[in-house]
Amino acid sequence: MDKYEWLAKNAEDTQIIAEKLATLLDSGDVITLEGDLGAGKTTFTKGLAKGLHINRTVNSPTFTIIKEYNGRLPLYHMDVYRVKDSFEDLGFDEYFEGNGVCVVEWAHLIQDQLPQDYLKISLLYEQENTRKIIFEPKGARYMQICKELF
Ligand code: ADP
Ligand code: MG
Repeated sequence: MDKYEWLAKNAEDTQIIAEKLATLLDSGDVITLEGDLGAGKTTFTKGLAKGLHINRTVNSPTFTIIKEYNGRLPLYHMDVYRVKDSFEDLGFDEYFEGNGVCVVEWAHLIQDQLPQDYLKISLLYEQENTRKIIFEPKGARYMQICKELF
């Protein structure tokens, strides 16, 4: 499947593409975020939240695993870094099939629980303020979203 790339020259650039993506999202959409610590996964999520007209500050949910925000659509921000094994069932299904947008940091750690279709986004550290952001749509819906985005 196609891949799309965005070179972010600073954190604001990362939020700009995320904010634009947010305008194309609908309830039930799932975005996965991959990348090392400090790559910008939470920064990207902040941009998504802005694009969904969420006014509350989005922080890393590392200690709670899932945080919910309300905007144009509900946003379920998950960070599964601390999930102990990939089968630990925290009811992710209900979120993935729910009425909001799900964003999952470190999603590969729960690969077996992910839905079939989702938008995989990888952030690669290039330099202190530069990141390469790769969009890999899984399924027709996300291919369409990427075509509109780029
Ligand atoms: P993660 O959630 O992947 O661990 P964070 O988003 O919490 O990463 O942290 C990324 C850090 O890198 C933030 O301090 C952010 O300001 C900084 N940063 C610098 N340049 C960028 C960029 N181009 N995109 C995203 N974050 C950036
Ligand atoms: Mg994070």
